[in-house]
Amino acid sequence: KKRKLSKVRKAHATTQDGTVIELLANIELPSDVNDVHGSGAVGVGLFRSEFLFLGRDTLPSEEEQYLAYREVAESLKGAPVTIRTMDLGADKNPKWLGRSSADNPALGLTGIRLCLAEPLMFREQLRALLRASAHGKIRILFPMINSLSELKQALAQLDYARQELREVGFPFAEEIEVGAMIEIPSAALVVGSFLKYVDFVSIGTNDLIQYTLAIDRNDDSVSHLYDPIHPAVLKLIGHTIKTATRGNVPVSVCGEMAGDARLTRLLLGMGLRRFSMHPASVLAVKQVVRETHLDTIAPIVSRMLRSEDPDKIADLLQQLNAQPD
Ligand code: PEP
Ligand code: MG
Repeated sequence: KKRKLSKVRKAHATTQDGTVIELLANIELPSDVNDVHGSGAVGVGLFRSEFLFLGRDTLPSEEEQYLAYREVAESLKGAPVTIRTMDLGADKNPKWLGRSSADNPALGLTGIRLCLAEPLMFREQLRALLRASAHGKIRILFPMINSLSELKQALAQLDYARQELREVGFPFAEEIEVGAMIEIPSAALVVGSFLKYVDFVSIGTNDLIQYTLAIDRNDDSVSHLYDPIHPAVLKLIGHTIKTATRGNVPVSVCGEMAGDARLTRLLLGMGLRRFSMHPASVLAVKQVVRETHLDTIAPIVSRMLRSEDPDKIADLLQQLNAQPD
């Protein structure tokens, strides 16, 4: 019984047993926010801010960044927008950065590592984000966090940026929520130690799969081995969701897995209640949410999480998705 997706647009993302699920959208440029309105999402769960920094000859100024973040925040009219600080390096290496590309960029100076190596540039972005937070519900998300000490260094830079703004008298929201991306296996394994310091965590499955399985996410010659339901990947995601949930810290998935309707029930069964995905995927995922009873899927998902046999996991996934409402 296929319901029209357009009818699902305005409906709430609520499971058959009445659990409310938060479906958010991923965007890359401020103008993408137009695709969020009418997508069925209740906000932006991942704004990949590095796209503001790519394809240009100079670093955008604090003012330019501030206006871009403010535009998105205002356009969402109080709905949340999670803005990830620039995740450059790896495959995204703009000329103005003046850094030569590394032999193994995915293991090089990327994400938060690059930001901590360029603190002036980092704090410019943090000040722009803080200033924009006076105009909407902005959350800040740090990419590629690898350890608690790295997280603490990023938070110290944020405190420093707050201090700088106070000195010049610029307003910003005092209660801005701050989160860490969990996209390196080390971070997933020690996520419990982060919970005291963050308001939320967000699982980046694209990189988490790449780093867990040692599969370059951009290399076609190994793409057949890139497996979101590899038992090791499921263990890391499961551990992260369980640990954060027990610690009362909201957890989302913002990688491609969140927008794959074939994996929606699996993630729901793992305890996920917040998903962020390409705006075009929201309706299909919402439809699965609305057709799912959490009690019915729980036993199948726990069998999937206990198994280390990929064939068995694949069979169980089919069973899971064939369950009636
Ligand atoms: C991820 O790694 O899953 C993620 C959401 O970030 P990106 O795809 O931008 O690396
Ligand atoms: Mg990533």
